[in-house]
Amino acid sequence: MIRFNLKCDQDHAFESWFQSGDAFEKLSNAGMINCDTCGSTAVTKSIMAPAVSKSSEIAVPKTTKSPIEELRDKVESSSDYVGNSFVKEARDMHDGIKPERPIYGEAKLEDAKKLVDDGIPVLPLPFIPRKKTN
Ligand SMILES: [Zn+2]
Repeated sequence: MIRFNLKCDQDHAFESWFQSGDAFEKLSNAGMINCDTCGSTAVTKSIMAPAVSKSSEIAVPKTTKSPIEELRDKVESSSDYVGNSFVKEARDMHDGIKPERPIYGEAKLEDAKKLVDDGIPVLPLPFIPRKKTN
């Protein structure tokens, strides 16, 4: 919707909403726009007041998360961060020294490969874990 400030041939100013500039032209040419005060159809646009009505506002989400960010949130909320102890923790769980639980952390590529070679299911995460202090 566009708001136009309109003026008739008697210099009466008023304003009205239109779907578009074209809509105004069509209505005006068809004599469908009347002055609020005197009813004259000799109405012209004076100053255009650009405004956008509420209904056509585009709702922009505050945060748009990428699939990777969503995965990170999921992993971080459901797994324990073990940092550099990842390889040891994973091995301990595999060897039955520690109870199994979902963990994530950091490991050198070669260490991660060794875990996989030993049949320990290690998945590379497509993100750098955020360090946690606890
Ligand atoms: Zn008028």
